Amino acid sequence: QVARQLVAEADPSISGKLINEIDANNIRDNLRYLTTKPHVAGTAADWEQAEYIRKLWIEQGLEAEIVGYDVLLSYPNISKPNMVSVVNSSSGKVEFASAVTEKILNPDQNQTGVLPPFNAFAPAGTVEGDLVYVNYGREQDFEQLTRDLGINVTDKIAIARYGKIFRGDKLKAAHKFGAKGLILYSDPADYAISGVDKVYPDSWWLPGTGAQRGNVVMTKGDQLTQGYPATEWAYRSQDKVLKAQLPQIPCQPIGYDDAKVLLRELGGSDSPEDWKGTLHNVAYSLGPGFKSGSKFQNLNVKLEVHNYNVRRMTYNVIGTIKGKVEPDRHVLVGNHRDAWVFGALDPSSGTATMLEVTRAFGKLKKAGWSPRRTLKFCSWGAEEYGYPGSTEWVEENMKSLLTQAVAYLNCDTAVRGNYSFRGRASPLLKAAMLSATRKVKDPHNADITVHDTWAKYDPAGGTLNEPRVNVLGAGSDFTPFIQHVGIPVTDQTYTYTSAWKISSYPVYHSVYETFEIMEKFIDPDFTCHKAVAQVLAELARNLADSLLLPMNPADYASAIETFANASFSSFGGIFAKKDGISFDGLYSAVKNFSSAANEFSKKIENVDKNNPLAIREINDQMLMLERAFIDPQGLPGRPLFRHIIFAPSSKNIYAASSFPGLSDLMYGLDENGPEEQWEEVKKHLAVIVYTIQAAAKTLS
Ligand code: GLU
Ligand code: CA
Ligand code: ZN
Ligand code: ZN
Repeated sequence: QVARQLVAEADPSISGKLINEIDANNIRDNLRYLTTKPHVAGTAADWEQAEYIRKLWIEQGLEAEIVGYDVLLSYPNISKPNMVSVVNSSSGKVEFASAVTEKILNPDQNQTGVLPPFNAFAPAGTVEGDLVYVNYGREQDFEQLTRDLGINVTDKIAIARYGKIFRGDKLKAAHKFGAKGLILYSDPADYAISGVDKVYPDSWWLPGTGAQRGNVVMTKGDQLTQGYPATEWAYRSQDKVLKAQLPQIPCQPIGYDDAKVLLRELGGSDSPEDWKGTLHNVAYSLGPGFKSGSKFQNLNVKLEVHNYNVRRMTYNVIGTIKGKVEPDRHVLVGNHRDAWVFGALDPSSGTATMLEVTRAFGKLKKAGWSPRRTLKFCSWGAEEYGYPGSTEWVEENMKSLLTQAVAYLNCDTAVRGNYSFRGRASPLLKAAMLSATRKVKDPHNADITVHDTWAKYDPAGGTLNEPRVNVLGAGSDFTPFIQHVGIPVTDQTYTYTSAWKISSYPVYHSVYETFEIMEKFIDPDFTCHKAVAQVLAELARNLADSLLLPMNPADYASAIETFANASFSSFGGIFAKKDGISFDGLYSAVKNFSSAANEFSKKIENVDKNNPLAIREINDQMLMLERAFIDPQGLPGRPLFRHIIFAPSSKNIYAASSFPGLSDLMYGLDENGPEEQWEEVKKHLAVIVYTIQAAAKTLS
C-alpha cells in the first residue's frame, strides 16, 4: 500500500471540490474584519491581526505559528508634522502650508492609528529653496531636464508626480541629479482621470486631499542585517553603514490640492507637452522658483521631514498542511498583512482571498484528504517597508528552502479592479498558471473562463490565443524567493483596464483605501475576489498534489530565446562595432538549453510512473532548475539581486528587466568606451553564457 501511495496520481475530484468550495461571501467577511482598523507594521493592531490569523488557521485545520524578527522600521513624528510650505526666508512668515493629514471623508476613517502621509525611510531634514517640476522624476526626465531643457536641479527642491516607476527610484534619481529634497504628488492625469469633481466619495478616483504613502528604500529586507536573518543574535550594521545605504535627501508626499497651489505659481520655461498633467489653471512651468508677479514671488519652498527610524518586532504567521507522500517538498503561498492605513486593496484583498483558500483546503483536510506535498501559507509582516518580514524568513530558512521549496505564489492585492485577471510568473510556472485560469469561470460571465477574458484583454501576441504572462521584477514579497534563492514565483490579481494608462489604482496607500470603496466601486459581489481565490487554490493544489510537478522547462527555453532576441536587437548593432564581443556564445547556449529542455520533455513523457525514484528524480530536476539561474555573487553592483535571466530594472524596481546585468552595464555605453566598462560587459556576458549552459546541464 505504501508503494502504491508513492506513485499515486492526484485524486481528480479534488480540483473541482476545491474550486466549488470557494465562497465570495466569506471573502467579503474576511475583508470587513481585516479593514476595521489601521494596521501599520510594528503596531499593536498588526500583532492583533497576526494572532487572529494564527487562531483562524488552527480552527480551519492547519498547524500555525508566529515567527517574529527585530527589524528597522520608520515612522513620522506625530508631534512634529512633516510639511511643505512657502516661506519668506527673511521674515520667517509662512504664506502657505500643506495639509498635515488627509481630510476625513467618511466617519469610519476617523481613527487614532491613521498615520499622516509620509515616505518611510526618507531621512529627517529641513531644506529651503527654489522648486523645479521634474515630471515623473525618472532618470530620463532628469536627463531631459538638464540636457535638453537647460535646467540644473542641483541644490533645488524637486517636485515630481507619482506614477510610472517605484517612488524610491524617483528619489534615487533626484539625489543623483543633485536635488536637495523631493516632493511627490498624485496628479489628476494619473489618479483622477475623469476629472477632479468626480472623485471619492462619489467614485473610486483620488480626491485632492489624498496622498500616497510608501517607502523610498532601494535596499530591500531589514536595513540593519543585509543578507542574514534579523534574529536576536544577529550582527547589526553601524550607523555609518546604515546611513550610506538609506536615502540621503528628505522626501514627502502631498495631495494634488496642495500641489496645485505650488505648481500654479512656478515660473521658468514651459514644460514639454507630455510633461503636463491635468491640474486646472496650471501651466506646468518648470521653474526654478516662482514666477514674477506671483503672490509667492521671491519666496522659498520649505520641505520639512521629521521621520525617525526605530527597531520593532514584525511578525509572520506560517500555516501548514503537511504533505502525506513528500512532506519535505513545500509549496508556499503568501501575502503581507501590514497596511499603510486600512489597506482594503493592498494587501487585505489578498489576505481575505488567502484566508478563504486556506478554509477550503482545511475543509478537504478535515474530510480526510492530504496533499502529496506540504502546503505552507504565509502572512508576512512589514512588506511596506521593503519586505523585511518575508526577506528575513527567507534568509533564516535559506538552506532548507534551497532543497525544499517548489514554488512561491504571492497574493498581494488580489483585487484592484473588475476588468480582467492578470498573472505574472516565472516561465517554469506559466503553463500551470494558464491551466488554473482555464478551470475557473469568469466572474461576469459563467459561459467563459478567466483565461478567455485575460487572453482577450491582455493577449500574448503573435499567433497564440493566449494571455501574456510576464516575468516579475520586485515590489512585493515574491522578491526574496526568486532573487535570493531562485524559487519560481507567481503573482496574480484582478485589475482595471489598461486603456486608462494609470500606474496604480487611484486611492493606493491613502486613507481612502477602505472596505467601502471596494464594496461600492470595485467588487460589490466579491466575485473577482472569488475568481482569484479559485485560480490560486487550483494552482497551489496542482503544484502540491500532482505526481509530476506541473512545470515546463521548455517554456523557459522559449522565454530565454525571446530575451536573447530582445537583447540582440538592443545591442547587436553596437557589439558588431567592437572586437572580441558577440552574441554567438549566448545563442549557442540558448540552443543547448532548448535541446536539453526538449530532451527533458521526452524524458517526462517516457517516465516509468510506477517507479517512485524515477518520479522524484524528474521532479528534483524541475525543482532545481530555477536555482540554476542564481549567481551567488549577484548581479553587477547588486549583490542581493542574483537571478541572471530576469531581475528588477535598475531604473524602476517594479518592472522586470531581462539579462538585467547586461542592460545595466550597457546603459549609456557606446563603442568608444569607456573600455573598462566594455571589459565588465564581456565578463558579464560570459557569466550569462555560463549560467545558461550550467542550467542546461541540470536538465541533461
Ligand atoms: N509594495 C511596496 C510599495 O510598492 C514596497 C515595495 C518595495 O519596497 O520594493 O511601496
Ligand atoms: Ca536580514
Ligand atoms: Zn502590498
Ligand atoms: Zn503597498
